[in-house]
Amino acid sequence: MIQLPLLILSLMFIFLLAILLKLRHRRKALAVPEGREIYEDLQSKGRILKSVELGITGKPDMIIRKGKDIIPYEYKSTNASSPRDGHLYQMFAYFAILEENYPGLSIPYGVLKYREAAFRVHNSAENRRKLISILDEMRNSDGYVVRNHSNRGKCFRCSFREVCRQSLIKPSGNPHPDDPHSRT
Ligand code: SF4
Repeated sequence: MIQLPLLILSLMFIFLLAILLKLRHRRKALAVPEGREIYEDLQSKGRILKSVELGITGKPDMIIRKGKDIIPYEYKSTNASSPRDGHLYQMFAYFAILEENYPGLSIPYGVLKYREAAFRVHNSAENRRKLISILDEMRNSDGYVVRNHSNRGKCFRCSFREVCRQSLIKPSGNPHPDDPHSRT
């Protein structure tokens, strides 16, 4: 007859295995890259990461480490058949931020996951040039980059809010005086 402690151990093992399989299945469905999760902001609890050099901030939904590779992961609840421009620039900003925060490690690509599709965005010199170019435009132009919304929350979460002259949030994190929704 099977002994009680052995039975309890077997049940615990089966229970843990079921949890592990469920987690693995969930990660696969969400296209989370393989590796160790070292940062998580899916519930907005991650710390703000900065690139001092470029003056931008960001909070990827997740950061995965696999060996010497660091992979940012961003989840969008909308659908898209190809990566949207704004989301690509957000990923380019993450690359720059992570390069500064994880010196000596490499950031080969990031994953942009929409509701149904996932895309691998490569970290290249060309994408960094595009990022620097749009940051210059944001810093130096009042008219070229035109805000197409009045959503303060969007600006608050935006990596470019410190450099964007149209941001509804002041660098301090307070609403911008031009914001029609500002209560200050
Ligand atoms: S700070 Fe606001 S206006 Fe500027 S790019 Fe970001 S979301 Fe757009």
